[in-house]
Amino acid sequence: MLAPVMREKSSQLVQFDDLGRRSRKSLFGLDAEDLSDCMLEAGEPPWRGCQLVEALYRQRITELDAITTLPKALRQRLAAEGWQVGRPAITQVFQSADGTERYLVEGQSGDGLTMETVWMPEGDGGESGDGSDSGEGRDSDRSETLGASSFPRSSAERVGDHQLGSTYGLGTPVLDSETREDSRQRATICVSSQVGCAVNCDFCLTARLGLQRNLTAGEIAGQVLAVFDRHAVEVGRDRVNLVFMGMGEPFLNYGNFMGAVRLLVGEMGLSPQRMTVSTSGIVPGIERFAGELPEFRPKLAISLNAPNDAVRSQIMPINRKWPIASVIDSVRKVKLRPRERITFEYVLLGGVTDRPEHAVEVARLIRRTGLPAKVNLIAWNPGPGIHYATPQLEAVEAFRRTLMDAGIPAYVRKPRGRDIYAACGQLKRTVEG
Ligand code: SAH
Ligand code: SF4
Repeated sequence: MLAPVMREKSSQLVQFDDLGRRSRKSLFGLDAEDLSDCMLEAGEPPWRGCQLVEALYRQRITELDAITTLPKALRQRLAAEGWQVGRPAITQVFQSADGTERYLVEGQSGDGLTMETVWMPEGDGGESGDGSDSGEGRDSDRSETLGASSFPRSSAERVGDHQLGSTYGLGTPVLDSETREDSRQRATICVSSQVGCAVNCDFCLTARLGLQRNLTAGEIAGQVLAVFDRHAVEVGRDRVNLVFMGMGEPFLNYGNFMGAVRLLVGEMGLSPQRMTVSTSGIVPGIERFAGELPEFRPKLAISLNAPNDAVRSQIMPINRKWPIASVIDSVRKVKLRPRERITFEYVLLGGVTDRPEHAVEVARLIRRTGLPAKVNLIAWNPGPGIHYATPQLEAVEAFRRTLMDAGIPAYVRKPRGRDIYAACGQLKRTVEG
């Protein structure tokens, strides 16, 4: 049994957990300080916390008993107290013909709710998955590789992942890490921040779920590690971008979202410049984000999606609370790094937001902000029960051209994994009803 003081600390960790998860004793998701405190109060030296950081975030060990840097007696004591690693695990895999994989990932709470995560290999057709041109990505490539070391993989412990594909009749994506040892992987992982979403954008399938719950920091970061293990990603070798563009509104779960970023950057050694967070325009969240230290701040994307307030309020009710000008004012407070640009995402809804005059208006709007910016154009991905039209290919290209001619870099995001229900929130809705 642990000393009573340990129970006192446990109850503090319960408070930490009360942000959303019911599982109270997951080590995964605690940062270096929490882990050291935890060990200290268990009557152990604080450097045991560093051993846990190494085991959880660098070696990516998923079972408490496999953390052999801790004495066996301590592992047993922790287990007897109900502690576990508690890392989120992939429960279903869907593979697209284009190489995209989508996952349902089980969280730490045991409430049966799953999160949705996507792996997009080899960028996005000449762009990174966040829509940035790959040239820009290469610039910062070196900085990520520097200082990051290679860590032993623990994918062998990840029982079941590879079998899941075949269980669900989706093929068996056995990736032989030995044969890829020399090749550097390039991919983007799309991460969820909530189960469902409360923002209620009219064109988005996630909105139809409503907000089911916030994800914890461990659940947000855990999606990344689960996918890293599945694809034997090595930090420092592979070029993987993270985009917080899955289910949910990251800035309405701010503490946990930034908690996850701090774990990924601070404990795992990932670069925040390889991460992009997308928001529908939650002004207090953007203002808070502007105050983050640059070494922990991902890049920012704003879902603009409309040429003016009238159209935006129609398709994104949040615009009535925080109209475009207020969003732009808050974005101005973010101190950009050299060469960094704000991304404006723009979902093209056929006949509603994709007309030539809309493109002219968007160009004018963005130029007027004076912000270093680029635009990611996304053809609307249809979903059951949502009555919009996909734009014509020519309309997409004409829109892009208008922006480019106005001096605004614009990229078309290739639709990924259409055959496995690629749009935001689609997989979960179509699988779980
Ligand atoms: N909630 C955040 C991040 C998740 S949504 C946000 O809204 O920014 C990520 C992106 O997917 C947003 O730019 C959103 O506009 C877009 N999106 C949502 N549903 C879509 C659909 N059906 N087709 C194409 N893009 C969609
Ligand atoms: Fe939420 Fe983003 Fe979907 Fe809007 S587009 S409902 S903010 S997930």
